[in-house]
Amino acid sequence: MLQQTQVARVVDRLDEFLARFPTASALAGASEDDVLAAWSGLGYYRRAQNLQRAARAIVQEHGGRIPGDPELLGRLPGVGKYTAGALASMVFGHRVPTVDANIERVLLRLEGRDADETPAARSRWCWERAGELVNAAGDAGVHNEALMELGALVCTPRRPRCNACPLSRSCRARRDGRTDSIPVRAPRARRTDVFHTVARVRDAKGKLLVEQRPPDGAGLWRGLWQAPAIERGTRHASGSELSRAVGVSELVECESFVHLTTHRAVRFRVFEGVAGRGTEPARGQFRTARSIAGLGLATPHRRILLDS
Ligand code: SF4
Repeated sequence: MLQQTQVARVVDRLDEFLARFPTASALAGASEDDVLAAWSGLGYYRRAQNLQRAARAIVQEHGGRIPGDPELLGRLPGVGKYTAGALASMVFGHRVPTVDANIERVLLRLEGRDADETPAARSRWCWERAGELVNAAGDAGVHNEALMELGALVCTPRRPRCNACPLSRSCRARRDGRTDSIPVRAPRARRTDVFHTVARVRDAKGKLLVEQRPPDGAGLWRGLWQAPAIERGTRHASGSELSRAVGVSELVECESFVHLTTHRAVRFRVFEGVAGRGTEPARGQFRTARSIAGLGLATPHRRILLDS
């Protein structure tokens, strides 16, 4: 949950999630829909899908117990080198390094390393340096956690609190007045535009039309539910195209907004309408608002369907 997400957003949701899926086998045996619903609003839904795949691997290959070996941890879906190193050292006491963005920043500043190099070369250097340091540390887990916390709370990206830093005497960036320029910042990649033309359709009983996104592929919000949408890369679909696609005539445009993700600007154009009695929609199914609230919905579709 904490990958790319702040603690404050996660803290209220963690207990709820653990109450619903208290063990690896409970998570492994749940339907993906239930897992995505419990994850709703946290974003980066692939993490939820990977977490469930990891739970299934833990049950099927490790007898329901999380393996402590860093190699085996790293083979679980969604567990990269950083997470494997953090878990192996902090939970299982293995002497292995870990490097997240916080640790990387601390190491680069300590060494005054402002070389203009590729991210891969920089990461390689950081892992090597972290390995040297963890080998010299007393408790590897405490050492890794301390570096991580130092980066999160003291050696922050902007305006690091060098006066409160226990490593300030040996920090080259501080000595040379280069804390602002280390790490060298890569230019921010431009977000890709995606155009979603969406139909909010009610039937005669007030139920709402929803459909499930494809579970596979590289697209957005895989496997989540949504109001029926036409997704394009260059421009919005027209109202009549949307009408034909959902099988409901007389859709009226009612709102537009932009939803930003890390890599995309999703431009929404929303139409609404009512399906005549007995109309069979061309896509999706009608469901009550209450049952939709229990589905895995991406944040903008929750807003379109339930906050209108
Ligand atoms: S002295 Fe400042 S720049 Fe150096 S590690 Fe500490 S907080 Fe970071």
